[in-house]
Amino acid sequence: MTVATTRSAELFHRATQAIPGGVNSPVRAFSAVGGTPRFISSARGCRMTDADGATYVDLISSWGPMILGHAHPQVVEAVTRAAATGLSFGAPTEAEIALAEEIIGRVAPVERVRLVNSGTEATMSAVRLARGFTGRTKIVKFSGCYHGHVDALLADAGSGVATLGLPTTPGVTGAQAADTLVLPYNDLAAVEEAFAAYPGEIACVITEAAAGNMGAVAPVEGFNQGLRDMTARDGALLIMDEVMTGFRVSASGWFGLDGVAGDLYTYGKVMSGGLPAAAFGGRADIMDHLAPTGPVYQAGTLSGNPVAVAAGLTTLRLADADVYAALDANASRLGALITDALTAEGVAHRVQFAGSMLSVFFTTDVDTVVVDYAGVKATQTWRFAPFFHALLERGVYPPPSAFEAWFVSAALDEDAFGVLADALPAAARAAGAAAEPQA
Ligand code: PLP
Repeated sequence: MTVATTRSAELFHRATQAIPGGVNSPVRAFSAVGGTPRFISSARGCRMTDADGATYVDLISSWGPMILGHAHPQVVEAVTRAAATGLSFGAPTEAEIALAEEIIGRVAPVERVRLVNSGTEATMSAVRLARGFTGRTKIVKFSGCYHGHVDALLADAGSGVATLGLPTTPGVTGAQAADTLVLPYNDLAAVEEAFAAYPGEIACVITEAAAGNMGAVAPVEGFNQGLRDMTARDGALLIMDEVMTGFRVSASGWFGLDGVAGDLYTYGKVMSGGLPAAAFGGRADIMDHLAPTGPVYQAGTLSGNPVAVAAGLTTLRLADADVYAALDANASRLGALITDALTAEGVAHRVQFAGSMLSVFFTTDVDTVVVDYAGVKATQTWRFAPFFHALLERGVYPPPSAFEAWFVSAALDEDAFGVLADALPAAARAAGAAAEPQA
């Protein structure tokens, strides 16, 4: 089966002459799966249309934000109205307060919120604040967790860093990474050892509240609570990175599922409604260390941008219990379809969930939960590319990497599930027929 990609191929070639690798974020380039990245011309609901006119059921949702589906009429209307009244003022607006209040109202441990422009800015600012508040320098992060492209947080990171197999990245100096301790995810003993080795020196532990950037790897029972207990005992802060999980896996993010309170939270994606907006927040006594009330500097020309705030606020206000029920139902229906198709073809695998995020791990160890980055890397990731392409050719657009979570929207409809059900058997056969590359 071949699908026309002529126009996308032309655009990709042109893009490579103007933009490094032809893309503005690495995973979009299809490096891990090969083939021509599809250039998207429009999207509505759960479907995207590419430059060659092919339509896809979207299982990326812009890497998380589009829980309501694309171009939701009320979000578009709010954005249009906001744009017509001014694109940016560089002065405060009432809508910013409403968005901050919406987040505070959803997540009990969040008492203050500052808006920024990307998840990267949110985690960078939260780590700086944690260091400024505690007067300590070291930070703990976990292998396979991705917190944006913050210098100090890129070590052994997930997402594109994992997809491209980069253990670390040139341009990050030893000094920038020297105070970052990288530990295995879901390993409390390792965290205990780190606190024993550096008592009173660790400013914060930053963790994805549930990991989604090495594929969907939820915290094992007691992991987040253990982090809470150990950080509190030592006087370090716990930063829950909910850029991916926030307002997707429940109305109050992963906090709504496990109730473990962090000191600081980072958000992006869903709360942006698909425009560039993100946030960090947490305990008032910590957040008040930020300028202008405190000495820790943090700022942004476009932070709290009125158009982005309109998109985020409208999205959150529309994200009610029905939307979360639809996300959960759609994720489990998708997971079941994948499992049925792979099982029918005898392809050993696990579908893993972290709330309504999910991933397919090709593994013969089907009963063993994949709990960390080493476990993810040990799976048969080479089966993923043919699985991906068979789906793409049949009108389904999953993430182009074995190391990413799949994101459903509440807009998936019966027709979309029909496309999926039709596409999956051939994809399962392609995954089953894949040959392990020789070392
Ligand atoms: N934190 C997590 C958990 C993420 O998944 C991401 C992006 O995928 C980020 C931070 C960085 O967000 P952004 O891409 O908006 O900079």
